[in-house]
Amino acid sequence: MSQAVGAVLSEVLPIRLEEQGAVKIGILAVQGDFDAHRTMLASMGVPSVEVRTPANLQGCQGLILPGGESTTQLQFLREEGLYQAIRQFAEADKPIFGTCAGAILLACEVKNPQQESLGLVDMTVLRNAYGRQIASDVVRGPCTLKAEPLEMVFIRGPVIERVGPRVEVLAEYSGKPALVQQGRVMAAAFHPELTRDTTVHQRFIQLAADK
Ligand code: GLN
Repeated sequence: MSQAVGAVLSEVLPIRLEEQGAVKIGILAVQGDFDAHRTMLASMGVPSVEVRTPANLQGCQGLILPGGESTTQLQFLREEGLYQAIRQFAEADKPIFGTCAGAILLACEVKNPQQESLGLVDMTVLRNAYGRQIASDVVRGPCTLKAEPLEMVFIRGPVIERVGPRVEVLAEYSGKPALVQQGRVMAAAFHPELTRDTTVHQRFIQLAADK
């Protein structure tokens, strides 16, 4: 999203910085569409920092794991000591939100192919199930966060095949969970950061501001 679009959004959206409790959100900036999350947060008046080392997490009230390639991101997390740092961040009860590849990193079980993951959401995901790389699908599905169906952009996203009993399903597509939450961790199989709808990010910012 361009800066111009961000500026238009901030005029249109009735959200002010003081309402967000001046939270600062870290965005894992290793690979993938981290800048789209930064633009969306900026349009909501929420400051963010790029996270590339464990030290970057200091002072963050929440962390976003963006879309991209989860295998590449995982390797980087291990090399930089971020794998353990993110688990500690979650143990400290700080909220984390993963979109697409980020959701894969958060799952307890990853298939197609099998892959190590942080294991912070009791769900099984099947990689590369929705949409093609060059022709992404934009669909709408029911969402508990708003009255109208939520716009969802899928780009080779994971199917959430199974969720455990502590997982709340916040949105569905084609009868399958598409947005879920377990405690203070949220995961989306799609990319809310690639739409103009701030509903999902609002929910996450609220979690971060609550503590
Ligand atoms: N296919 C990617 C993966 O398995 C995820 C794609 C995305 O984040 N849009 O990691």
